[in-house]
Amino acid sequence: MRKLEEVLQDWEAVIGLEVHAELTTLTTKMFCGCKLEFGADPNTHTCPVCLGLPGALPVPNKAAIESIVLAGLATNCDIEKHSMFYRKNYMYPDMSKNFQTTQGPIAFCMRGHLDLEVDGVGAKERIDLGNLKPGETGAADSTAANVTRTEDGYVAHVGITRIHMEEDAGKMVHVGGGEGRIAGATHSLVDYNRAGTPLIELVTEPDLRTPEEARLFMQKLRQIYLAIGISDCSMEEGSLRCDGNVSLRRRGTKEFGTKTELKNMNSFKNLHDGLAYEICRQAEVLEEGGIIYQETRHWDPSKKRTIVMRVKETADDYRLFPEPDLAPYDLSDEFINRVRAKLPELPDEKAQRYADTYGLSAYDARHLVDHRVTANFFEACMDLTQGDLAKPLANLIINDITAHMNADEFFDLPTSPLTPERAVELVKLLADDTISSKQAKQVFTAVLEEDKDPAAIVDERGMKQVSDTGAIEVVVDKVLAENPDKVEQYKGGKKGLLGFFVGQCMKETKGQGNPKVINQLLTQKLGD
Ligand code: ADP
Ligand code: MG
Ligand code: ZN
Repeated sequence: MRKLEEVLQDWEAVIGLEVHAELTTLTTKMFCGCKLEFGADPNTHTCPVCLGLPGALPVPNKAAIESIVLAGLATNCDIEKHSMFYRKNYMYPDMSKNFQTTQGPIAFCMRGHLDLEVDGVGAKERIDLGNLKPGETGAADSTAANVTRTEDGYVAHVGITRIHMEEDAGKMVHVGGGEGRIAGATHSLVDYNRAGTPLIELVTEPDLRTPEEARLFMQKLRQIYLAIGISDCSMEEGSLRCDGNVSLRRRGTKEFGTKTELKNMNSFKNLHDGLAYEICRQAEVLEEGGIIYQETRHWDPSKKRTIVMRVKETADDYRLFPEPDLAPYDLSDEFINRVRAKLPELPDEKAQRYADTYGLSAYDARHLVDHRVTANFFEACMDLTQGDLAKPLANLIINDITAHMNADEFFDLPTSPLTPERAVELVKLLADDTISSKQAKQVFTAVLEEDKDPAAIVDERGMKQVSDTGAIEVVVDKVLAENPDKVEQYKGGKKGLLGFFVGQCMKETKGQGNPKVINQLLTQKLGD
């Protein structure tokens, strides 16, 4: 198979996502009073309603309706005042009612959108930006119609078709086979605790064009859902799940190809890599003259391939019809406004505030709000410095702290030895040239390992950076005197030797010389 970057030269990928979020922060199920609890003993949270026993009548959970309206408002959707529930009929052991209660053509939330800021290597997956200059948007009839160029990448405007309310099914446990899979299992058990869990499904327009955009969309949506507090959004535990629909069309053509749907995208990386694989697979099939079947496929991250699960059912197969036991909705303006008043500051607004208040770049501001913990940490630091040192503190958080969080999955910033007080102290030591940036990295690691204040670590290790010009001049003179041949070469035009001299001076000062001062003195003495 060819590589993604090559395939994308010839083919344009068209991607749409379907994202399910369990409303885990609620206390009870969607249509009954059973408790919502992850990891409870099997079948301990069930009742006639969520088991679908004869005669049981559903009562909608008002808090769940509030949650979905909140999600709609946070993703720029129109809130539909009149919508209703439907029955989606199918038989499967994890669904003992024999139908799922869901919504029909009109959902609580319709016609939303999110803007994705794409930069760095991920932005390179998009190759149709041509000669767009920063601030320019692609022509309406071009493939870049929903894209605006930025300094270091682009912003993609992604349409959200709808967010509808539904309920989760129970969970099957397959016994006797390998890795709990159905293949080879001797029997299967079913746990109905999850049956009837309030679930919202967001469907995007087929507006995404690269695996990176799909990944960023999920990341952004997760940030928003976390900010509004409707779900714990755990992709490992399945409270946030994503299906990726993808098709290809030849670059320059307009008509959509046949799509496949990828399941089991339970991490951002899986979503990206699964789509990337599927794009390459489809390209190979099409280039060999084959056809793509509309089917559901399963991404296997360990084997790095997708396999067919089933061919697509159509809506007709489900005999979707209005749910007779639940009255249609008539949401009042008052209800919607009450929910609107609960909207907290959203990640984009937070990033904008950081940029405006502290003079940070859009890039820095956005990466600070990537995680709630880093945003909170930054704000705690800003409280301590009254807004000073924003840029170096942002650097510390985005580079060192985030790298540490990524490297150690058990690292918990709020309880770690690196308090906002210590971060501010560290950045001050760097800002006033007491320590070099290289030493700052060592102090950062030492704070985490030894649980001590940065100033104490600097003292103990005698780490102070030498900025005293007199002391450094002695070293500079010594280095120049010891290397007369190199000095000659430098003066003869080999300016690259400056690095060598700086290195020698750093060595002489045991890494404690202030590189700025060393540079200054060297260029002075070498006659530049
Ligand atoms: P289905 O009826 O198969 O579920 P939908 O029209 O409901 O299809 O769309 C499901 C998802 O697939 C949506 O996110 C939509 O944007 C996306 N989608 C639809 N058509 C295509 C296509 N040709 N290529 C890629 N994605 C598509
Ligand atoms: Mg669909
Ligand atoms: Zn119940």
